[in-house]
Amino acid sequence: MIRFALACSAGHEFEGWFKSNEAFDEQRASGGLCCPICGGTSVDKAIMAPAVARSGAADRPPPEVIARFLAIARAVREHVERNFENVGPRFPEEARKIHLGEAEPRDIYGEATPQEVRELLDEGIEVRPLPWVPKLDG
Ligand SMILES: [Zn+2]
Repeated sequence: MIRFALACSAGHEFEGWFKSNEAFDEQRASGGLCCPICGGTSVDKAIMAPAVARSGAADRPPPEVIARFLAIARAVREHVERNFENVGPRFPEEARKIHLGEAEPRDIYGEATPQEVRELLDEGIEVRPLPWVPKLDG
């Protein structure tokens, strides 16, 4: 099976599993693909490398791709650490206060459980996961 990252014409992104590249093309040509979010049938591969899943460990990107990803993740992280206020475990509480106008609007980061993140999103508070990568020495 091959996993493709797909996107509809409205820009919704989702994943689909296909027996082969040909199977994907056939299904797409016959209009058999549709977006799970809006139901649109104008679906194409998102700009992303497909992943081939065979037996567990084979499903790994090449080292240079991992290195590039880690470099980007690290840059994002450093930017956040420099420019955002670390509120640690008080993150959900602070995010809520800022959202409700009870605290000064500012960029913050901190810790939250997946459950807390879900609750914040449910309340319409924009939360983004931060790529957590090991720091380089120093
Ligand atoms: Zn859609």
